[in-house]
Amino acid sequence: MREVAILGATGSIGASALDVIARHPQRFRVSALAAHRKVDELVALCAKFRPELAVVADAAFEESLRHKLKSAGLNTRTASGENGLREAATSGDSVVAAIVGAAGLDSTLAAARAGKRVLLANKEAVVMAGALLLDALRQGGGELIPIDSEHNAIFQCLPNGRADLARAGVRRILLTASGGPFRGRTRAELATVTPEQACAHPNWSMGRKISVDSATLMNKGLEVIEAHWLFGAAPEQIEVVVHRESIVHSLVEYIDGSVLAQLGNPDMRTALAHALAWPERIDAGVTPLDLMKIAQLNFEAPDRRTFACLDLAYRALAAGGTAPTILNAANEIAVGAFLERTLPFLAIAELIESTLATVPSVAVDSIETLVHADLTAREAAQRIIRRAFC
Ligand code: NAD
Ligand code: MG
Repeated sequence: MREVAILGATGSIGASALDVIARHPQRFRVSALAAHRKVDELVALCAKFRPELAVVADAAFEESLRHKLKSAGLNTRTASGENGLREAATSGDSVVAAIVGAAGLDSTLAAARAGKRVLLANKEAVVMAGALLLDALRQGGGELIPIDSEHNAIFQCLPNGRADLARAGVRRILLTASGGPFRGRTRAELATVTPEQACAHPNWSMGRKISVDSATLMNKGLEVIEAHWLFGAAPEQIEVVVHRESIVHSLVEYIDGSVLAQLGNPDMRTALAHALAWPERIDAGVTPLDLMKIAQLNFEAPDRRTFACLDLAYRALAAGGTAPTILNAANEIAVGAFLERTLPFLAIAELIESTLATVPSVAVDSIETLVHADLTAREAAQRIIRRAFC
């Protein structure tokens, strides 16, 4: 029996993880559930999955959580804040790291240090702190299995999931991108798009932040950085291919000319089932792929001029140091402001570029350096918004 903690239990990935877990009660048990502040949803999940621990990141909601659990007749223990998230992260054998944004960094690192199997959805953590996360995994003796569909696909196409690329004869990693809801649009057409339009992804149903990232192609930029750290690939070995159907989740090209791909319907439960049971396979509840029905798969180059965020991410990766942390922080502020309608869609990339130009990148020697870079970049981005857009 595997004990699984879900961080970000009330989100889209959290729901997919719990759906897979509920299909296999003989195999998995939920040890802890953590969310930001959606107390009612968390209590409903506790009633269904009976974890020992329930955590709200926002400490102001712990009292209400405790009260509502008790009223529901549950004796689930509660905790809150960063310590609560850490406790949840170290409670089981496996941890689904599915908090969105930099808020997930500390608990993801805690799970890695504690030697857990980390099922990583929280790509922002690896973008911000790739080297530190790998160190923590080595020290803790745990393992990381990617949940991001592209990286899970690459993991499945590599020998044992994480080979030394040169020794394994890998030439390139091809990351597929759906192109998001605005694929094919011109800059002029993007000037007035709304958060609702940006969040209406054609193939995937996801949280609002990653949906906007998919619309700007920053999601693919973050994934390039993620692939660099998870697989030890040089930036020039990682190529982005737009594939509108989201059926081929990514590919690995070998020096003998073989190209291995992982295919499936766009449903995150495949990656979650794979990572939960690895190296075994279990039913994920996903509709089988019907190639006759799909009939055609299309591939094209990304429009890097219209969707400038992709190259900003490549540049931050090449710059190294805290540049990816600054990129991520500026993006979180930009996406938040776009969702609040303070920032137009095209200004997301502009704001990130200006922040990267304002905040100098320094070498990453500790978590404190990263936290400082993250805060400085957030403040700089907010200053730029106030100056230019308010
Ligand atoms: P979501 O918005 O649906 O859910 C986010 C979860 O994080 C919620 O449970 C929320 O309570 C929690 N959360 C938010 N802020 C928090 C905070 N400050 N402290 C603690 N918890 C907090 O997002 P999602 O779509 O499930 O995405 C989660 C992560 O997975 C993101 O990093 C995203 O990039 C990644 N991811 C998602 C998908 C997908 O299909 N949804 C695919 C690949 C990767
Ligand atoms: Mg992805």
